[in-house]
Amino acid sequence: MSRQAPASAGRVTLVGAGPGDPDLLTLAAVKAIASADVILVDDLVDPRVLAHAPPSARIVAVGKRGPYCRPGAEPSVAQTSTPQAFIERLMVVEAAKGLHVVRLKGGDPYVFGRGGEERAHLAALGIDVRVIPGISSGIAGPASIGIPVTHRDWSQGVIFVTGHRKRAGDEGFAPDLDWKALAATGLTIVVYMGIGRCRAIVDALLAAGTRPDLPAAAVQAASTDRQRQVVGTLVSLADDVASAGIDSPAILVFGDVVRCADERWLRVAQDAPGAPALLVAER
Ligand code: SAH
Repeated sequence: MSRQAPASAGRVTLVGAGPGDPDLLTLAAVKAIASADVILVDDLVDPRVLAHAPPSARIVAVGKRGPYCRPGAEPSVAQTSTPQAFIERLMVVEAAKGLHVVRLKGGDPYVFGRGGEERAHLAALGIDVRVIPGISSGIAGPASIGIPVTHRDWSQGVIFVTGHRKRAGDEGFAPDLDWKALAATGLTIVVYMGIGRCRAIVDALLAAGTRPDLPAAAVQAASTDRQRQVVGTLVSLADDVASAGIDSPAILVFGDVVRCADERWLRVAQDAPGAPALLVAER
């Protein structure tokens, strides 16, 4: 797919910046950032990560937060995001100057990060492009409160899905996924971009026959100083999220693995004898 670029040409590195805490960067990510001439930064990237950039680097914020990221946001928010075509053109133009362009993305570039499209686009133009994986928030978020996404006793696998619905104006609805099929696997379900549709997603899982007391959690801004979380059950999660004011960016986790959450995040139910010792908790 890629043509050979001339040796003097610039290059692009798509770098996974992890969930936030710069200690969770890979060494390859740090080296790439430290050798960048231009850094294009997504708005989910923690600013502390940029401490590794050389003072001479040009830093460009290319956020693309759409209304799916913020419950109740106006469509105008979507219009303020940087168009993907512009970002891709900018990478091409800067690389053509012989520069090292680093595209910093939250988490992992290939997990709901458009890394696949960007790499294909650049490679098709003959631009030298490399991808550095990052720790995805769908793993780091649950892990930050003690939840392993798989566990031999509780779940033999994990499903990562997006809670983002493609059609604008469908805010109240769960994304077009076969929730019945997902629920039938009994595997852990991790939802990215789902906080604004938490209630619709819960309703879809309940309608799919998932038991109401399935443990469930939401983790906001994992590994940053804005981190907060609630741990509850499928039937309590939407209210827990609303009363705790959990907001984007956040990860939703559904599955028995949520029982492993650190005890300090748990509060035993007062009014539900026999219920799992897992209700609302918050830092
Ligand atoms: N490539 C990213 C995901 C980008 S999609 C990754 O691998 O993590 C954006 C979504 O990621 C957000 O809506 C939220 O669901 C999730 N997210 C990103 N950073 C997060 C964090 N620090 N804590 C919780 N969720 C996060």
